[in-house]
Amino acid sequence: MHDNRRIVEERIARALRERIQPARYAAAVPLRVEAWPVPGEPVPVADALAAGYTPFTVGDAWGPPWSTTWFRVHGTVPPAWAGRRVEAVFDLGFGPGWPGNQAEALVYDHSGHPLKGVAPRNQYVPVPSEGEVQLLVEAAANPDILANGFLPTPLGDLATAGDAPLYRLLRADLAVLDEEVWHLTLDIEVLGELMLELSTGEPRRHEILRALERAIDVLDLRDVAGTAVRARKELSDALSRPAHRSAHILSATGHSHIDSAWLWPLRETIRKSSRTFASVTALAAEYPEFVFAASQAQQYAWVKEHQPEVYARIAAAVESGQWVPVGGMWVESDANLPGGEALARQLVHGKRFFLDEFGVECEEVWLPDSFGYTAAFPQIARLAGMRWFLTQKLSWNQTNQLPHHTFWWEGIDGTRVFTHFPPIDTYVAEFSGKELAHAVANYAEKGRGTRSLVPFGYGDGGGGPTREMMERARRLRDLEGSPKVVVERPSDFFRAAEAEYPDAPVWSGELYLELHRATYTTQAHMKAGNRRCEHLLREAELWAATATVHTGRPYPYDDLDRLWKIVLLHQFHDILPGSSIAWVHHEAERTYARVIAELESIVDGSIAALGATATVFNAAPHARAEVVGDAFVAVPALGAAPLTPAEPPAPVTVTPRGLDNGLVRVEIDDDGLFTSVRDLATGREALAPGTRGNLLQLHADLPNKWDAWDIDEHYRRQRVDLTAADAITVVSAGPLVGEIRVERSFGSSRVSQTIQVRAGSRRVDVLTEVDWHETEKILKAAFPLDVHADRVASEIQFGHVYRPTHTNTGWEAARFEVWAHRWVHAGEPGYGVALVTDSTYGHDASRNTREGGGTTTTVRLSLVRAPRSPTRTRTRGTTASRTPSCRARRWPTRWPRATR
Ligand SMILES: [Zn+2]
Repeated sequence: MHDNRRIVEERIARALRERIQPARYAAAVPLRVEAWPVPGEPVPVADALAAGYTPFTVGDAWGPPWSTTWFRVHGTVPPAWAGRRVEAVFDLGFGPGWPGNQAEALVYDHSGHPLKGVAPRNQYVPVPSEGEVQLLVEAAANPDILANGFLPTPLGDLATAGDAPLYRLLRADLAVLDEEVWHLTLDIEVLGELMLELSTGEPRRHEILRALERAIDVLDLRDVAGTAVRARKELSDALSRPAHRSAHILSATGHSHIDSAWLWPLRETIRKSSRTFASVTALAAEYPEFVFAASQAQQYAWVKEHQPEVYARIAAAVESGQWVPVGGMWVESDANLPGGEALARQLVHGKRFFLDEFGVECEEVWLPDSFGYTAAFPQIARLAGMRWFLTQKLSWNQTNQLPHHTFWWEGIDGTRVFTHFPPIDTYVAEFSGKELAHAVANYAEKGRGTRSLVPFGYGDGGGGPTREMMERARRLRDLEGSPKVVVERPSDFFRAAEAEYPDAPVWSGELYLELHRATYTTQAHMKAGNRRCEHLLREAELWAATATVHTGRPYPYDDLDRLWKIVLLHQFHDILPGSSIAWVHHEAERTYARVIAELESIVDGSIAALGATATVFNAAPHARAEVVGDAFVAVPALGAAPLTPAEPPAPVTVTPRGLDNGLVRVEIDDDGLFTSVRDLATGREALAPGTRGNLLQLHADLPNKWDAWDIDEHYRRQRVDLTAADAITVVSAGPLVGEIRVERSFGSSRVSQTIQVRAGSRRVDVLTEVDWHETEKILKAAFPLDVHADRVASEIQFGHVYRPTHTNTGWEAARFEVWAHRWVHAGEPGYGVALVTDSTYGHDASRNTREGGGTTTTVRLSLVRAPRSPTRTRTRGTTASRTPSCRARRWPTRWPRATR
């Protein structure tokens, strides 16, 4: 036979694209449109019902960035359409880009009841097939922040976004869906995409090709509607061939990954969730086998408050088994930076919400998109009653691919949790032929496991799962050449996967994401705010509980519950990591300040209730003796002591270039750098020979993409050491506290560091204030240590991990920037030095050969970055600013602490 395969494939593609797909709507009549642009922020539907509307012409522009326009549309269904599938169809000016990054709308009936969302690939709203139609469309003009990749954009902040309309209303019609043509479209799409994934050596590929060719042969392209039935008949045999017995099984769960804030502010997520959930519950009513999984209790709480009718529909879908609350966390938080207690609270608050609201006990952690996963998570998850863990993000690794898709993940304490990475490598699947074939080819457990999970549906307000996806799933249930698609609950997948693969391989330790390493440092205010809040929450609970027990003072349960939830929300995986637009970070900065003030007032009130105005309280779990104000005080663990000075230790002696308290001696040179840090108890010098400590290093920092998220390995090759000091001044001369301040300037930025030694302490504190006006730079503080360490220990939640200081393998080389919580410790047998910080997470550790043998270890703290996307940081000369994202901040660096 002559081989005309390519020609036939092209014929099918053109017929589908130009004739069959456009014929899905048999007839359409325009709706009459009126508009009410909301002056300012979004309003409830009651306001829109009462508002005054003016006529609006389809084709006209609407929607300055972040604005809302309510469209009121009227129409009459033509009598000839009675009994047919009539829909209102809206095109708000959608483009071909990612559906979550465009305009969206929620459609209400004439009396204000929410019906369904409208999104770029989900544009219809079902209406009755006869009579009058009147709808209200709440359209949000959300800008596409990443439309130009990672170029800076003014759109991320109301103050700079401008007021030029972003969209044109392109369509507002009543239309009849021709179901036969629509089904024909889906038949051809499913078979055609499957065909293209099969090898040309397989008979099945050619069988599909000829079936499709016959279907186009019998189709009159000028009368698709009239001939669709005939064409479908030609495809029925190819569509009814059952899958191979060894076909991979895809457990498909409807899903919509909605970032709780990212390229839009928190207030928009409330609406994104509402629109998506309205669409999902509408879809559930149409497809009884549809199952949808949604995480993030916070989003449910928002919808409950703002769209109670949609929430009632969710509750009904949960009841009927079509909606599955998953994840058991308050939000899908970052999984590196939140403290141990905070991760526990994410689960406690999330699980409690789902249990209280729906009687549902979540059993699977659901974190498809967070930027790496702490080695403490298996233990935390299991202690929270979780059996399973799901993520997908590590498929984004730049260098190494994890060898498993289904495995037991072992944490620092030895706890294991059954874990799955969907090999389809997306959490917003569409059931395209390409995706399905990739999932099968990529699945690493073939021969031992037979199934993987597919979260399908557009995310971020893109409309969630669609009816087209459900139709595809029906055709893919048992189809020769394809994996079998079963729509089911994640727990059904996990139960079956665990049963067939109980001896799955083990991965021990952290799931480090070889990408997005700058999220440990970007938007330093987020990091500092989170850390301070986590500490204050603990202190507030400690002293409030103490006051309640000792004095009967009412415990501020509601306030602490509310404040915890605010802090948990801000640990979302684009807020705390610093990867959101300016609006989000400016708002979060103000929120952190408010939460800190409230928590401090709870602490103060509790302590005052304990009747102890002149008492020192120690929230640490160990006894302390240290300088407090102008006294030296000893306090027991978790206790209080009167502010009566204890026996003072040796005084601090201060010279213009040195601080010495008898325990530790710091020497500073004329550049203000440390030339010696000596532990006087052991006589040991902490600094590596011939080096200087506390050296600030400024690097060029322009990653290949993902500016706020990424720091690329090449950043290390351009560096300026900030050695010149403008001034070195003694600011405290002892005897309890000695302080020397070093001031520097570079570019248009300034840095002031106060080096502090306190009586009785083996610690050197460095309080760093940076007035930061750089662009695409990172500032690091380097401490070369005379410690022969193969690895450094970094504090994580409830423990620590070791990370090698060498780069023998690609896995180690890829960890050129890592995170820690409060401390990083470089140790050798018998001696070690720790760097302790109160507000930073990112750092790197490397090694050098030491003259005379051994190695030295350099630990560098990442202090501050200056990416321009998606948030444009302020540059020199910019004046009018709401809240500069780069104003001065203090980074106290406590260093070193010797350990034995
Ligand atoms: Zn996300």
